[in-house]
Amino acid sequence: MSLGGPTTRSACALAVSALLAWAAQAAESRIYIMTDLEGASGVYRFAQTRDPDPELGAKAKEYLMADIAAVVRGLRKGGATDILVVDGHGSQAFVPHLMEPGARYLTGIPRPSSFGDLDASYAGLVQIGAHAMMGTADGVLCHTQSSRGENRYWYNGIESGELAQCAAIAGHFGVPPIMVSGDEAACREATRFFGPECVTVSVKKGVAREAAILYSFAETSRALTEGAERAMRSIDKCKPYRLQLPIRAKKEYRNYDPHSGPGPLLTKEGTIDDMLKLLEF
Ligand SMILES: [Zn+2]
Repeated sequence: MSLGGPTTRSACALAVSALLAWAAQAAESRIYIMTDLEGASGVYRFAQTRDPDPELGAKAKEYLMADIAAVVRGLRKGGATDILVVDGHGSQAFVPHLMEPGARYLTGIPRPSSFGDLDASYAGLVQIGAHAMMGTADGVLCHTQSSRGENRYWYNGIESGELAQCAAIAGHFGVPPIMVSGDEAACREATRFFGPECVTVSVKKGVAREAAILYSFAETSRALTEGAERAMRSIDKCKPYRLQLPIRAKKEYRNYDPHSGPGPLLTKEGTIDDMLKLLEF
């Protein structure tokens, strides 16, 4: 008796192919890396990062590329299948010939969005070269968005730096912060906002805004690779960082004039309804 064999088999084949597609998707692990220059190994002076002295600036960018390479290697070891590395430094900091294989690199300004290509398909957010928020006593090159404007931001009453700003935008897509590297103050800030599940790797320890205890690049590179591999294993424990909309926002800032320097302290207060417009406030 036939029992409608072919139909049974094709239903079964459909179920198997659906299962295989699900397994392939589950094995897919896309990581979004946001970078900044101030928190890279060996960077501790504004002369290295803003209107940089050509030689100091070029070296600082090489240091960042080495940190990125170490992290990309660790993420790959830990099972990342696709990695997008985004140049988040205002004047851009990538050095193409130093790009580690196994990732794609987004750089150049202006571009339609600072968070190009970020969406819910990413499994985790990594922030490399991060610095603490403006006003952090031991934060190397600490600032929030503008080091000259002395900007400070509060969202729903909580003062937030660039780490939280970036994670809140990723959180809008349900993408959790899984790793942060920078100075010790940035790592402390990451743990305070994202919890201990987010892996932190300190590559220097601040003594003042432009003074730090540095560690050998061989050591920071090893720690970054090891930390990135560990971050891949703890993805499932990391929770997205979410801000409740609408956000009650406050900003303190000074207009900076290259000739007369910083102006008086100004305050702006308002509401943010769209998470993707967070940085436009
Ligand atoms: Zn920054």
